[in-house]
Amino acid sequence: MKLNNKQLKRLKTVTQINAVSGDEHLLANYLKNQYSEWGYQLVFDNLGSIFAYKKSKVTNAKKVMLVAHMDEVGFIVKELLSNGCVKVHALGGHNPATLLSNRVILTTRDNRSYYGTINSLPPHLLRGKNDNVSISEMIFDFGFTNIDELKKHGINIGDPIVCEGPFEVLNEGKRLLAKAFDDRIGIALGLEILEYFKDRDLPFDLYVGGSVQEEVGCRGALTSAHLIKPDLAIVVDCSPAKDMAGNDGELGVLGKGVLVRVVDATMIAFKDLINYQIETLKKAKVPYQYYISPGGTDAGSIHKSIDGIKTLTYCLVARSIHTASTIIDTDDYLNARRGMIYLLKHLDFKKIGIE
Ligand SMILES: [Zn+2]
Repeated sequence: MKLNNKQLKRLKTVTQINAVSGDEHLLANYLKNQYSEWGYQLVFDNLGSIFAYKKSKVTNAKKVMLVAHMDEVGFIVKELLSNGCVKVHALGGHNPATLLSNRVILTTRDNRSYYGTINSLPPHLLRGKNDNVSISEMIFDFGFTNIDELKKHGINIGDPIVCEGPFEVLNEGKRLLAKAFDDRIGIALGLEILEYFKDRDLPFDLYVGGSVQEEVGCRGALTSAHLIKPDLAIVVDCSPAKDMAGNDGELGVLGKGVLVRVVDATMIAFKDLINYQIETLKKAKVPYQYYISPGGTDAGSIHKSIDGIKTLTYCLVARSIHTASTIIDTDDYLNARRGMIYLLKHLDFKKIGIE
């Protein structure tokens, strides 16, 4: 299966917008325009999360919230150095081994962008030493020669920085490479769902959107859940593939379908929900795979909010997440789209214990 040009363009657009945790406004603006263009109403929490919604014609309809997180891992400037470089504070989890010599983009408060890189040493200067530099000691170089130049160009403590990760189509469209597929794949799937249902009535109120600050502790998910008070929440996120050893029986293989995420560090799956997820995936002829994770998703916050909210994760895997070079599989994307549309079209609240 191949993505059409519109789908490719959409994934390119959403991955290439820079939106580190706490600075998601550019992506939120893009979504706001797209959601409104399709005639959806909008709702925002006070942290910057955004949702499109459509009320059902059914009175006292249940509410379904589909959420992906807008933010990506990155950094903020913590120190301006006399030599014109800067040191940073990490936002979200980075493996330091993935960072040195990355291209980076800094955005100032007045929206100027500067390209730079993270300083590295060649091996002949490392002899006898290792280069296990902690992120807080890494030197980010934007080409400025002293601290006055940094200031003159509007660079301040608190400015966000992101690793550059251009969008590339691999293997004739079977796979895609870019930064931020975690979780722009979820943001893009949300757009697919909204596009599909824009002229179709549903027997429940549908909310689809993006949360802020997932990578630093699922903060926007908590406030969004409190705002919307859904009867059912579905979290679409991007989980690390664990398939590089090439062994049979691995959990989380790229291209092998939607994840039935039975447990992670922040939530034990609701049994009736994953049974229903499996049932609908089978009916929609969508491949699926079981998954267990030492991490977590927005579901960890949402299911514990208010009086407890029934929450289902609907994740896909990608290789090299939390780097500028993440790879996804387009069959996974299209299968997730088909499976999700089927699930929403045939949603049976009784079956999942929501009366
Ligand atoms: Zn994520």
